[in-house]
Amino acid sequence: MSLLIKNGRIVTATDDYHGDVFIEGETVSAVGKDLPLSADTIIDATGLLVLPGGVDPHVHLDMPFMGTFSSDTHETGTRAALFGGTTTVIDFVLQHQGHSLKEALTEWQGRATGTAVGDYSFHMAVTDFNDSTRKEIREMIEQEGITSFKTFMAYKGALMIDDRQMTALMQEVRRQGGIVTVHATNGDIIDYLIAKHRAEGNLSPLYHYLSQPEVTEAEASGRFADMANYTGCPGYIVHLTCEGALNAVRNATRRNQKVFVETCIQYLLLDAGLYEKDFEGAKWVMSPPLRQKKDQETLWAGINQGLVNVVATDHCPFLWKQKQMGEKDFSKIPNGHPAIENRMELLFSEGVHKGRISLNKYVEVACTNPAKIFGMFPRKGTIAPGSDADILLFDPNKQHVLSAATHHMHVDYSAYEGWELTGKVCKVLLRGKLAIDKDECLVEKGYGQFIRRAKVSGTI
Ligand SMILES: [Zn+2]
Repeated sequence: MSLLIKNGRIVTATDDYHGDVFIEGETVSAVGKDLPLSADTIIDATGLLVLPGGVDPHVHLDMPFMGTFSSDTHETGTRAALFGGTTTVIDFVLQHQGHSLKEALTEWQGRATGTAVGDYSFHMAVTDFNDSTRKEIREMIEQEGITSFKTFMAYKGALMIDDRQMTALMQEVRRQGGIVTVHATNGDIIDYLIAKHRAEGNLSPLYHYLSQPEVTEAEASGRFADMANYTGCPGYIVHLTCEGALNAVRNATRRNQKVFVETCIQYLLLDAGLYEKDFEGAKWVMSPPLRQKKDQETLWAGINQGLVNVVATDHCPFLWKQKQMGEKDFSKIPNGHPAIENRMELLFSEGVHKGRISLNKYVEVACTNPAKIFGMFPRKGTIAPGSDADILLFDPNKQHVLSAATHHMHVDYSAYEGWELTGKVCKVLLRGKLAIDKDECLVEKGYGQFIRRAKVSGTI
């Protein structure tokens, strides 16, 4: 089967030109102006942007958490992602302390295999690093194509590893050709503040925010950068939210170190004022919490300065009744918010349309960099001969409104209810197949493939 997209404005992280894209089977085979080729199907993209499919490297689908599961399965979550122009996601496998990485991988494969609609890969979260886990790092990289290892500097007793384990893990991951990613917040300070607020009877969502002040993230980000520098291991900070943390990364550049930084769409657009809405603030209870307006300015600037490399979502939705588990105690509110479907359109409208970032930068942080950093480029993250034909046809002028009534995520509220956006996904191709057309999904559960990833070097 062949397909020809004609007369679109093709935009990658580096290029911007009018032309045609010729697709054979699952991959792009030619790109150019007025390609003299015929095809089984021709799509006229006049007036539309032709963009690489989005890559969201931070999502939590069907994740067991606080006695419940995040409400999007690999089916509903990857389908919603496709509707919003994200064709590949990276989900997190969580090792259970006292158990092996392999056991956790098998558990996650059981939920994802045969159910995903869009393409996906896994990060491996290492929550218990010891002599037997050490042996599994090589196996994950060489045999499973899982080359990124997530760590937590918070959540002691459940997910956290200490600096002794972190240093040892980094040495092994570096040796085997992977990257260590981190939830960088100071867990001890946060645990203290949570206990203090609860003891004082301060139990509303606002105190979730007040339990994780900026310093907890700034301190841990700097400490992580120090350990990465000492070990030489490629490092990546997930969901960085604030000025203090970005300045810790900025300081690391002064000794010629590169630490990759991801922020998430919500930290660019929403602020902590939302926690003053009584319990409704639970919709935005996530860790780290939303910050202040000055932090949003820092993050937008950080994107343009090349310090912030990726805009992801940390998509981790919970139904309102699940959020209500914490109605009487903020520390029992499941953490996370829904955004997997909204990221590409929000970032275009608020970033490109409003003049904060260029169109090339948009593609870079939403598609190309996540693919490069995590070993999927050039198969994913660009439009070029040989790449997977994961392509968006995007109308840059179409206006629409976000709402829980029309979104496809399995969650009964929208974190962006009523937001008016400019720019909308029209069609989505996933590996050469028309997956989304006119608000309809044309591919089935099970079409999504697990993407094995290559070793990484810490350069892009
Ligand atoms: Zn997360």
